[in-house]
Amino acid sequence: MAEYKRLRIVRTIAEFRQLLKEWRRKDETIGFVPTMGYLHEGHLSLIHQANELADHTVASVFVNPRQFGPNEDYAVYPRNEERDAHLLDDAGCEILFAPTVDEMYPDGGVTKVSVPEIGDILVGHYRPGFFTGVATVVTKLLLQSLPDVAVFGEKDYQQLMVIKRMVKDLDIPVRIEGAPTGREEDGLAMSSRNTYLTPEERKVAPVLHQTIAQVAEKFRAGERPPELIQWAKNQLLDAGFDKVDYLEIRDAEDLAPVYDANRPARVLVAAWLGKPRLIDNVPV
Ligand code: AMP
Repeated sequence: MAEYKRLRIVRTIAEFRQLLKEWRRKDETIGFVPTMGYLHEGHLSLIHQANELADHTVASVFVNPRQFGPNEDYAVYPRNEERDAHLLDDAGCEILFAPTVDEMYPDGGVTKVSVPEIGDILVGHYRPGFFTGVATVVTKLLLQSLPDVAVFGEKDYQQLMVIKRMVKDLDIPVRIEGAPTGREEDGLAMSSRNTYLTPEERKVAPVLHQTIAQVAEKFRAGERPPELIQWAKNQLLDAGFDKVDYLEIRDAEDLAPVYDANRPARVLVAAWLGKPRLIDNVPV
């Protein structure tokens, strides 16, 4: 049995609820960080943020089959629970909720939460059903844990906006906080899927962040789509990316297209580099 400073690993919803109830009874606040595991510094910065925002921090590691398409990487998604548990323990997390698929979806679980419009565009267009899978599992996790605050990464910016919208629409009593994107030294956004990159592809990968940072700068300087977007897409393909799913400048809240600089905006990109599709975004 591994030894932890404080961390408890919990496998059932009933035990998870019971432990959190004891804190809640004492009026102690709970910060929650849901993840799919294979943790990196980006995830851990969310734990640190939750530590600041609440008395207790809890995290989940659950590779949610409902958010993977039939041809996606569910079976091979990287997993290492023991390493994750030690990283969470060191970061000050007190409970790791790591349920099985059967625990989360007994009898199949037919009910779905979908967030149309904002969930159908960009990532949602290229990964149909993805945000319904995410919204459903996040709703379940929030109702299981009833935290005061839940922290999500800006790395998955559209996901953060979808969850904010869902929590608002469904009156789920939780505060949703966004955390800045954790990056490698060369700017590449940290991601569990970066492990899919070959050493050659890894050298090309930072061009993604460089390019959208340049788009943001050029937009501020007055350059506009479609020429600006075409320039950026070409830059990615020239660097060695295989395909650009989208590269867009969107309203920072509802992700509608923007043509002028009157409102806060975001540059969002998804592009294929070998096996993984990498996503990233920056504020304008
Ligand atoms: P995942 O395990 O990829 O589902 O991510 C779990 C949470 O960590 C989500 O809220 C992500 O947005 C967040 N996250 C993933 N990568 C990063 C990163 N590089 N920086 C900050 N947050 C991240």
